[in-house]
Amino acid sequence: MNKQGEQIIINGETFVPLLNEYEIQKRVRELGEEISRDYRGKVPVFIGVLNGAFIFMSDLLKNVDIECEIDFFKLSSYGDSKISSGNVKLLKELNCDVNDRDIIIVEDIVDTGLSIKYIGDLFSKHTPKSMKVASLLVKPESLKYDVKIDYIGFRIPSQFVIGYGLDYQQKYRNLSSIYVLSE
Ligand code: 5GP
Repeated sequence: MNKQGEQIIINGETFVPLLNEYEIQKRVRELGEEISRDYRGKVPVFIGVLNGAFIFMSDLLKNVDIECEIDFFKLSSYGDSKISSGNVKLLKELNCDVNDRDIIIVEDIVDTGLSIKYIGDLFSKHTPKSMKVASLLVKPESLKYDVKIDYIGFRIPSQFVIGYGLDYQQKYRNLSSIYVLSE
């Protein structure tokens, strides 16, 4: 990895720090505590959206102190591009039965909102008792669909970000901070 001081250079493009590890961990802890309060006495199912949400899901769950279950499903992503293709496909189905359960969808980032809308439509075919969405990041200026995000980590500008689960050409998910493409 080509790190130059605080910056990361990838294929001649410069990424600069947006959120550091400390800021992310603090906010994730707050979200975990809020969700624990809201679901006290219930046993929700956290459903992570692969691949991007794997780190957020793991850190979030460590800060949730109520009984819960987890599952994952996988949607097609941007592929190797930096912009949404406008298409979503289901690549891995859920294993658990969500009927009559309180479910919390865990996303890494909501950009246009297409993925969350697709997920909402998918779950409308089942009958969960309730459904909420937690997303670490939201790009409010990019939203094109009317979607409700119940738990938001950070609102960020409409710029391409990497790290903490988020990839560029499938790499850089293992960075513990979040970096933004400098324009
Ligand atoms: P949406 O369907 O809301 O347009 O986009 C959601 C998905 O697009 C996310 O789960 C993520 O996979 C991808 N995505 C959106 N914005 C970014 C970004 O800035 N960086 C990366 N690496 N992926 C993004």
